Amino acid sequence: MAPETTATDAVQERSRARSPRPAATPRRSPPLDAAAAGRALRILRREARNWNAPVLTLMAAEKHDPFLTLIGCILSLRTKDETTAVAAPRLFERARTPQAMLKLTATEIERLIFPVGFYRTKARVILGICRDLLERFGGRVPDDLDALVTLKGVGRKTANLVITESFRKPGICVDTHVHRIANRWGLARTKTPDHTEQALRAVLPRRYWLEINPLLVALGQTICHPTSPRCSQCPVAPICPRIGVTRSR
Ligand code: SF4
Repeated sequence: MAPETTATDAVQERSRARSPRPAATPRRSPPLDAAAAGRALRILRREARNWNAPVLTLMAAEKHDPFLTLIGCILSLRTKDETTAVAAPRLFERARTPQAMLKLTATEIERLIFPVGFYRTKARVILGICRDLLERFGGRVPDDLDALVTLKGVGRKTANLVITESFRKPGICVDTHVHRIANRWGLARTKTPDHTEQALRAVLPRRYWLEINPLLVALGQTICHPTSPRCSQCPVAPICPRIGVTRSR
């Protein structure tokens, strides 16, 4: 026998029928694999040239000169991209080689690069690198990752940037933007940029290694911000799993 319907049941039923359905949680895409990452990078390749990203301006100004890329990267550490994009050309107007840089005093370099982060320390690091380049490498920037990291103040991120941008050799430069977005895409599940570099080397086909840095930095500077990324305007939103994103625009 069917259960008896009470008056209360009937009221509740009518009320349920009138209330709007709860909003469906937006479906998230699965973590990106190598093929999907390639698709995302090809989309960014097409779109990024329309963005006014500081990284693209800076790289165009450096014209793949290894010394300028190296010094530009040192300036960018712990510094907003917009600040580096202004300070680096100011310094390069005065010195574009290790020899020319060594003609400047630390105080002059400080004034030229202010207000980049740690500008006093960086002025001395830059002079130390220039001396080292002259003494150990004949004034030339080495095109080898292991040699580059022997320069005081040069870590894997900087060394990888020089290798990829200036020498067009395989490497993956992981900065804060690449680290964050690789994790949001599910290409890496890592806590540090160095671990992200290893994860990306393992999963990403080599043909994407050179361009992943400028493309993800441009995306990070304009759309995929650390807090509240602008997912509604992002060209890769349809395939992005947005891992760890709790608030977006
Ligand atoms: S902005 Fe949003 S959709 Fe675009 S890459 Fe970042 S998290 Fe993904």
